[in-house]
Amino acid sequence: MFAAIEAGGTKIISAIADEEFNIIDKIKIPTTSPSESFGLIRDFLMAYKDKLKAIGVGSFGPIDIDEKSRTYGQILNTPKKGWSNFNIYNQLNKDFDIKITITSDVNASAYGEYAFGLSEDKKSLVYFTVGTGIGAAYIQDGLLIGGRSHPEMGHMIINKHQDDGFKGSCPYHGPCLEGLGSGPAISQRLNKLGEDLDKDDKFWDIEANYLGQAALNTSYMFNPDCIIFGGGVMAKEGLIEKIRENFERLNKSYMDFAPLDEFIIKPKYDGQSAILGCLKLAKESIGE
Ligand code: ZN
Repeated sequence: MFAAIEAGGTKIISAIADEEFNIIDKIKIPTTSPSESFGLIRDFLMAYKDKLKAIGVGSFGPIDIDEKSRTYGQILNTPKKGWSNFNIYNQLNKDFDIKITITSDVNASAYGEYAFGLSEDKKSLVYFTVGTGIGAAYIQDGLLIGGRSHPEMGHMIINKHQDDGFKGSCPYHGPCLEGLGSGPAISQRLNKLGEDLDKDDKFWDIEANYLGQAALNTSYMFNPDCIIFGGGVMAKEGLIEKIRENFERLNKSYMDFAPLDEFIIKPKYDGQSAILGCLKLAKESIGE
């Protein structure tokens, strides 16, 4: 059996699966303090301790995912109280003497979609999650791409829309992609949650313009087989279509792409991609 842990900023999900990735057991807990949250995860996993072969973890970041690093699995500077410098690898390693693989939550989701959601002919993807923050991952031929760490494409600098007076919510950059397009950026700007905003509100054209810019920038950089947009904000009806329109308008026929409804898409395993990705990483980590 394999274990997966998807550690998000608001909730942590852990699952146990068999060799064929059938989920056998699962828990979902709120993200509180590291000791409390990972205490509950430990209790959950302990029941399967004798059967577990490997654990895969996808965590919110920034997090050290360099296996050769002395601080592998350590959450770096985060505004999330109590979590800076908490080391997930060391925490799990105390109780589980098996292979533990740590990556970012976005990498895990991207890997889940890559492994289970793509057709055979597709070998690369960019995955964006648009929710509490914006994160992105790039996979080429099965490899999660990143130099010293996972990419931070969610903080790319983009052009502000002429009708957008919002100064941006990112504490580091103000109007970066996350600062303009994340869930909190939407609610700070409009004083209501994106989910409560009508699907025909003209704000969605602004949001789609930002995500369209992000899609185009990453297409020009990586020329992937497809770009996937997941996350809570993407639940808005019609948004993916608007992103395609903006993408096409900004591209100005410069580069050729696959038909956009096959190129800019939503996740096939929305809500489960990260857990599936963690399980796949766990299984592969022991050469299976
Ligand atoms: Zn930023």
